[in-house]
Amino acid sequence: VTSPPTSLECFLAGPRRFETRTRALDSLPPEWVRVQFLYCGICGSDMSEFEGRRAIAYPASLGHEFIAEVKQVGEAVNTLTPGDLVTSDLNYRCGHCEQCRADRSHLCRDRQVGFFSNRAFAHAADIHASYLLPLQGPPARHLTLSEPLSCALHAKRWTRLRPDDRILVIGAGGIGLSIAFALCTEHPSFAFEVAELSDSRRALIGDAVATSGRAITAPDGEYEVVFDASGTESGLRTACAHVKPGGRLCLLSHLEGYTAADFLLEDITPKDITFTVSYINGQRENLKTAARLLSEHWTPTWDALLEVIPIEQLQEAFERRRTSPWCKTLIHIDWSSREQQDVVAADVLSAA
Ligand SMILES: [Zn+2]
Ligand SMILES: [Zn+2]
Repeated sequence: VTSPPTSLECFLAGPRRFETRTRALDSLPPEWVRVQFLYCGICGSDMSEFEGRRAIAYPASLGHEFIAEVKQVGEAVNTLTPGDLVTSDLNYRCGHCEQCRADRSHLCRDRQVGFFSNRAFAHAADIHASYLLPLQGPPARHLTLSEPLSCALHAKRWTRLRPDDRILVIGAGGIGLSIAFALCTEHPSFAFEVAELSDSRRALIGDAVATSGRAITAPDGEYEVVFDASGTESGLRTACAHVKPGGRLCLLSHLEGYTAADFLLEDITPKDITFTVSYINGQRENLKTAARLLSEHWTPTWDALLEVIPIEQLQEAFERRRTSPWCKTLIHIDWSSREQQDVVAADVLSAA
């Protein structure tokens, strides 16, 4: 008797507590794809759930900013083949609801259909093919930024940047670095500033953006465009204080789960500004553009912004993320030795 294939998964058993389990993989449905994960970034939304700031049901699977290798495809899948390198869209897009037809497919009425792809802190998983975007190999770890960069591209479009705008990015975490990278690659002649309190992150991003941007400790004066990528209430207060009257303020951070920002309307109303809350990544095209920009323009100076931690230290990686000296934390998923032991354990259990 051959036992069914299994996968190891790190899952959130409760607030601030990862555990590891072995899961059986069922037979693959026709429109699904079995992938083996290679790298996955830690997103602000993962942090919110780890810290218990969002009301979620436990156990919970996390991890959506991944790259993976296709291992097997369902019989109806003709867009991918085993060996392909893929990344994931965060959204199910039905293609025919009124949101999908109005170029807002990231807000698809069916997006909670339950085919979620948020489960990459694992050896392998089965994912509906519609989420997966093929990438050009080799499987470079920075391609995990495709998803956060697609969110930055979507936000950038909302702000309708002009060459003479004074531009401020608040926070040099994963989203801040994605906005900075988008500015450097899509608008190389636009000057901008990145405000960051961590000395280490500020030094790293300062080097990376040196051709057109600069890193600062605190903003000074007024800006036509402010991106708040801080993920904190104090960052949003700073954004409100420095956006120029008549300017554009774009909030990308995950403030969900923080106390309500009482000051917000009071601070922005007298300024007559455009206030945008940019939600996820917009059209699927943004994900393709993000993957292309990363393939064409990533350099060692940008790579220095990334910290890579093995999956065995996932718990520690989450605990240290807020104070990490690096702008972005990626998890390297290589469980080859551990997997063997667990497959043996599963065989013993099924024989008993
Ligand atoms: Zn994300
Ligand atoms: Zn739809």
